[in-house]
Amino acid sequence: MKHEVVIAGGGPTGMMLAGELTLVGVDVAIVERRAKAELVGSRAGGLHARTLEVFDQRGIADRFLAEGQKAQATGFAGVHFDLSGFPTRHPYSLGLRQNHIERILAGWVDELKVPIYRGIEVTGFAQDDTGVDVELSDGRSLRAQYLVGCDGGRSLVRKAAGIAFPGSNPTTSNLIAEAELAETPPEWGIRRDALGTHALGRVEYEIRNGKIVYADHGPVGVLVTEQHVGQTTEPTLSDLSAALITVYGTDYGIHSPTWISRFTDAARQAASYRKGRVLIAGDAAHVHPPDGGQGLQTGVQDVVNLGWKLAQVVKGTSPESLLDTYHAERHPIGVRVLRNAMASSVLRREDERTKALRDSIAELLGMDEPRRRFAAMMSGLDTHYDLGEGHPLLGRRMPDLDLVTKTGPLRMFSLLHTARPVLLNLGEPGAFDIPPWRNRVQLVDAKYGGPWELPALGPVTAPAAVLVRPDGYVVWVGGPAQPGLADALTTWFGPPTAA
Ligand SMILES: Cc1cc2nc3c(=O)[nH]c(=O)nc-3n(C[C@H](O)[C@H](O)[C@H](O)COP(=O)(O)OP(=O)(O)OC[C@H]3O[C@@H](n4cnc5c(N)ncnc54)[C@H](O)[C@@H]3O)c2cc1C
Repeated sequence: MKHEVVIAGGGPTGMMLAGELTLVGVDVAIVERRAKAELVGSRAGGLHARTLEVFDQRGIADRFLAEGQKAQATGFAGVHFDLSGFPTRHPYSLGLRQNHIERILAGWVDELKVPIYRGIEVTGFAQDDTGVDVELSDGRSLRAQYLVGCDGGRSLVRKAAGIAFPGSNPTTSNLIAEAELAETPPEWGIRRDALGTHALGRVEYEIRNGKIVYADHGPVGVLVTEQHVGQTTEPTLSDLSAALITVYGTDYGIHSPTWISRFTDAARQAASYRKGRVLIAGDAAHVHPPDGGQGLQTGVQDVVNLGWKLAQVVKGTSPESLLDTYHAERHPIGVRVLRNAMASSVLRREDERTKALRDSIAELLGMDEPRRRFAAMMSGLDTHYDLGEGHPLLGRRMPDLDLVTKTGPLRMFSLLHTARPVLLNLGEPGAFDIPPWRNRVQLVDAKYGGPWELPALGPVTAPAAVLVRPDGYVVWVGGPAQPGLADALTTWFGPPTAA
């Protein structure tokens, strides 16, 4: 069986990549170990602003917004940020559990008719000059031009590719579970002590006036820090009960768990996101403490960066070297996420010195500029790929402007729904002509009279024209007389072809 691309793992990262590739006509298949699409249990609690924007760029943000609850949920070191004044259409986070996020993504890839080999594992692979033979647990194999490991933190693809995963070992261990409690705890919510952070709350909740209001009945989500680090066996109900008794003095008669999982504060990042025809993304490329709720967001954004590049290489429009920009751009983002998640996890400690440090940082974050910068970082809105000197928009996200074209009003992001690049001319209509790229790049004449403002940076000079990649990042800014457009088009969307 053959596909142009095979994705190992159909979690949020794998599904997003499959959608991205399918939108631009790549024959892609997912191999997913889980027999059923439903995610048992839940990890991520929602989506931050940039992830919502990225979904909006593909026209699917409304599906998440319809089910989630808007909240100001970004923060650092216990300080909460309010994104209300931020120049984005989504100046908030969305409370929505990972099982729902995955269900909505699964609906999207289903509509796009992505084939999924379910209940099957990738067990190994062999790559040669023209492709990869992917071995499956049912004895079959798949041939693909590229294999992408979106197979989570213990990624078989990463290990089999021999990609190093350097980082730090765990210093704390947590159990997370969903179960029934025979007794109602006197108080729901977060508790912190010398051991670490713990939390009890009904799985179902509502956000009323910015506050979480838990449902009166139903299963309970449990988070509890364990006394010891380094357990290697699968966690059990008695582990959970023992950990609760240590912290709360009782296990509240916990029973009937639907899932129990263990996570730690280990932080590791792949030394390389690519080895020949094998790439990795999401948790397969980086693991870190859940502080700041950034894992799923980073994985989704990894593959929005990778998808269109891989498509162009598979279709022969761009040379293979375009794939090197995936590591070059996304590895530094991972470094930053690991850094802030590690720092945050340490700042959770309850000893006097850590409290003093946390209070000092809170004081700094009370100041306008640091607060804006950290809010932009934690929401992902400050993502910046280093594309050299130039206009502040270069390498940054294109804002979702309300444009006016000759056919009427249009949102910038709607131009990205098909995952195709855009040359947006905001000056004299017809001032640009790009015949060799006409089939690959949308040339749009539009007017925009509003302000130009970037999160954290503030107002920037209005550009005459911008070249925007399918992932929504600006790679060229200028006017018709400005040099460099042909070079940028070649670098990002392949060499010119006869018109
Ligand atoms: C307690 C906790 C809270 C979190 N909270 C947040 C949060 O609030 N916000 C946030 O953004 N992130 C959060 N995260 C992180 C988030 O859950 C992960 O970053 C996210 O699930 C990563 O997605 P992924 O698709 O890369 O990997 P995974 O979700 O791990 O998916 C990998 C998939 O690959 C499949 N698979 C594995 N091996 C194979 C194989 N060999 N062959 C075929 N299939 C395979 C698995 O079955 C799985 O479906 C949290 C994590 C934890 C533990």
